[in-house]
Amino acid sequence: MQKILIANRGEIALRVMRTARKMGIKTVAIYSEADRHAPHVQFADQAFCVGPAPSNESYLKMDKIIEIAKAHAVDGIHPGYGFLSENAVFAKKVTDAGITFIGPSPFSIEVMGSKLAAKEAVKDYGIPMVPGIDRAIEDVDLAIEIANDIGFPILIKASAGGGGKGMRIVEKEEELAEQMARAISEAKSAFGDGSVFIEKYIASPRHIEIQVLADRHGNTVHLFERECSIQRRHQKVVEEAPSAVLTPEVRKAMGEAAVKVAVAAKYEGAGTVEFLIDDQLNFYFLEMNTRLQVEHPVTELITGVDLVEQQIKVARGEQLSFTQEDLKIEGHAVELRVYAEDPVNNFLPSVGTLERYQIPVGEGIRVDDGFKEGMDIPIYYDPMIAKLITYAPSRALAIEKMKQAIADYHIEGLATTLPFGRFVMDHDAFLSGNFNTHFVKQHFKPDELAFGKETEAELAALLAIKVLEEGQQRVKDIKHHSNHWRNR
Ligand code: ADP
Ligand code: ADP
Ligand code: MG
Repeated sequence: MQKILIANRGEIALRVMRTARKMGIKTVAIYSEADRHAPHVQFADQAFCVGPAPSNESYLKMDKIIEIAKAHAVDGIHPGYGFLSENAVFAKKVTDAGITFIGPSPFSIEVMGSKLAAKEAVKDYGIPMVPGIDRAIEDVDLAIEIANDIGFPILIKASAGGGGKGMRIVEKEEELAEQMARAISEAKSAFGDGSVFIEKYIASPRHIEIQVLADRHGNTVHLFERECSIQRRHQKVVEEAPSAVLTPEVRKAMGEAAVKVAVAAKYEGAGTVEFLIDDQLNFYFLEMNTRLQVEHPVTELITGVDLVEQQIKVARGEQLSFTQEDLKIEGHAVELRVYAEDPVNNFLPSVGTLERYQIPVGEGIRVDDGFKEGMDIPIYYDPMIAKLITYAPSRALAIEKMKQAIADYHIEGLATTLPFGRFVMDHDAFLSGNFNTHFVKQHFKPDELAFGKETEAELAALLAIKVLEEGQQRVKDIKHHSNHWRNR
């Protein structure tokens, strides 16, 4: 492989290019009109505009991307995550054009892209699954029967769902018919596939996933777990490896189950098998993501394996150069996704300009980002600015380092999840390891952020403003009420 095109943007495009360059491979970037000045465009050896800002007019234009690749002697395409990374049609088109797709086969992508097909594929391998039904369901009466069988609350899930979207919790029988109708119509419009199914809603689960790596010669290994339970909207914000709660026995059992899932999918390359675990450390297969995962760096740090390098080597047809026995966990890594979102305001996107942007540096600190000071965070794409990752010999030290790194990360011009990260790193539940996917709901108090790092003088000023605002609000309330009375 002499030259690869990265069909993506932002931090992941840069991250892939860095490894390609290290391996002596030339890189080609694509970009939308909104990303003309992005670092991934500057970093690449060649860069081509693929269209206007909206992703369906640029980063999702399969034929256009392949045309560029062919015109410029590209021999491999890396899809990153999101966009076309889990699109079996794209993988096939790339291969048909005589270019290597750096990822699994269209078959594996297709099977694992549907949560129902995935369950079907692994069912003979003895993988524990969340109780529920394993086929699409439309009949409400049947759904009620099944839901009563497994017991409420239940979760209605879109088979084609992803990115935390397409899920509805149903607490009781009376709500089921309406929720199901909504879930089906949402799934149709969001994923073009209205298939939904029912899973038991696991009360207080942790999300723990296993990284796998497979070559074309029948070798499949796992690279241990990532703990991803700190989520908002069913989507991860803080991840770490290893998990604070897995015993060596459960780790081994989950690793072996993940390898079986990969084998069932005839998997090649890097993939992730996601599980939920309950408070008894029972684990249940959720789904497999057939791509590089956002949070892959924590695994790279604790294993010393460059996952992108492995993806490229496997795509070139090479054998894995290590066995399961060669892999060891060393140290601890924590990742914070730095999103342009306002944690005080329900994690709503907070787009704007990076008026100040200064990253922390130091031993054990890794920042994977795709922006520079002065740039806008476009509204068209995922609002992730960067991933801040720290690595140290122990969990406590990695957390300490994370606190320091957050303090040294200066972003002005928009709200970010950095203060939320600080909140998590300070919280007893996180420090003790005793947390689950409901951390945000159970423990997060946005009020505690605003006053986090202020000096005493700033605090006094903020307090004065607050008192003033409250006074004004009271005046408004009184006005509102008096209008109300008058109208009666
Ligand atoms: P991971 O599963 O790698 O931890 P996410 O669930 O946050 O990460 O998703 C990875 C990326 O893929 C994000 O950019 C997210 O917006 C995007 N993504 C995932 N699934 C979908 C989907 N079905 N439709 C659109 N974007 C998706
Ligand atoms: P996606 O494709 O959107 O990533 P997943 O099936 O991986 O969907 O689930 C995403 C998140 O939703 C999980 O990490 C977990 O927080 C929650 N979740 C999914 N299934 C269940 C379940 N059966 N019970 C409780 N929570 C669940
Ligand atoms: Mg998932």
